[in-house]
Amino acid sequence: MEKDRKKLSVHTIGCRLNQYETEKMAAELYPFGFTRAEDGEPADLYIINTCTVTHRADSSSRNIISRAIRENPEASIVVAGCYVDAAPDLMTDWEGVDVVIPNAQKSEIGKILPDRLPDLFTNTDADDRPEGPADFHDHNRAWLKISDGCNQRCSFCVLPAVRGRLVNRSPGEIIEEVKTLLEQGFNEVVLTGVNIGHYRWRESEPRIGNLAGLCRIILDQTNLAKLRISSIEPQTVTDELLEVYRQFRGRLCRHFHIPMQSGSPRILRIMRRPYDQMRYLRRLESVKDAVPEAIIGADVIVGFPGETFEDFAETREICESGLIDYLHVFSYSDRPGTHAAALPEKVGPDVIKARNAILTELSKELRAQANGRQVGRTLDVIAEGHQTDGGFYWGVADNYIKVKLPRDFPGGRQVIKVAIKSACEKYVEGVVS
Ligand code: SF4
Repeated sequence: MEKDRKKLSVHTIGCRLNQYETEKMAAELYPFGFTRAEDGEPADLYIINTCTVTHRADSSSRNIISRAIRENPEASIVVAGCYVDAAPDLMTDWEGVDVVIPNAQKSEIGKILPDRLPDLFTNTDADDRPEGPADFHDHNRAWLKISDGCNQRCSFCVLPAVRGRLVNRSPGEIIEEVKTLLEQGFNEVVLTGVNIGHYRWRESEPRIGNLAGLCRIILDQTNLAKLRISSIEPQTVTDELLEVYRQFRGRLCRHFHIPMQSGSPRILRIMRRPYDQMRYLRRLESVKDAVPEAIIGADVIVGFPGETFEDFAETREICESGLIDYLHVFSYSDRPGTHAAALPEKVGPDVIKARNAILTELSKELRAQANGRQVGRTLDVIAEGHQTDGGFYWGVADNYIKVKLPRDFPGGRQVIKVAIKSACEKYVEGVVS
């Protein structure tokens, strides 16, 4: 390996915000002569950006750290992210982990690692080299962090403890980053954060009152083809935001991911969610009124402490309301330090497993129905990735429907139009027009 061409391998567990931050951390290290290792390729430096939102995320994070240490005894191992904030001692005492980086220090990685790993950072003149833009290695859609942290206090959630209070980025900074991504050939940008629905900017001009205002200014001041909003809390899906969808029809992706968590008003109160199931449903109806072909996804937690069969039945009823097109089903797990972790009446693992299976099966049916509705329509699609087995390209439509593209499709970041001819549970197929 040429002296300066060192290999960097990155692993991200968790959400798009974490994926964005991984790309930014990598971009800070390219000026030091690092290049990305391909999957499975040995590297000199491993960055593992962890998640702690569920116990499963914890165990995935631990597994990836253990494997990196075991398979690369010569390499330097850096562990970052939410699990570091949740369990700092576990990480710092972990033999084989060289450096731990909590969320608040991720943007300093280009300063921290040369000090902590001097043998690996020989060319210190990189210090004054500008940080490269995140290149979203191998991706054709880009994520963009607009805020971090959350001011809500849902009783089951560890995120406020590991991500802190809500901090928004300035609209000027955000628009500059959109322009940089456009120069890199991206046509779709996904806005991400922890609780982006509470976005606002009052510190300087342009003052922005909410997420609707931010979307409007991005679409007004750039020629971005597709703007997607990642997960958004139900009470922040405002009429003003839906009006922006009407105003910029075709440029705002017709996809809404709106966490519900439970359909039981009793459980929603104990979860400290700021809405009841009727208000949730009315929001979904407003979305379908404003964007008739929108695809709506919902997060649901099964097995929250005290959840009875009747509570679960209420959740299932909302999921079957005809307004939801797919589900992300999470099995409840105690998160250290949360209010819910101290609650009695824990639901048994078998019951949780059974309820998860019911909703996971239901989600497959809902997706198949949503896919079926696409037949005969033409969708705007961006190729996402090349499936190694079968050699097909997969695309993601603006309404988040998965599209199987022709074998000989060249790929790329351009928006293509696909006339949908057939559908199945997992995807739709069509002709590139
Ligand atoms: S809104 Fe609730 S669930 Fe979402 S990050 Fe904030 S506290 Fe967690």
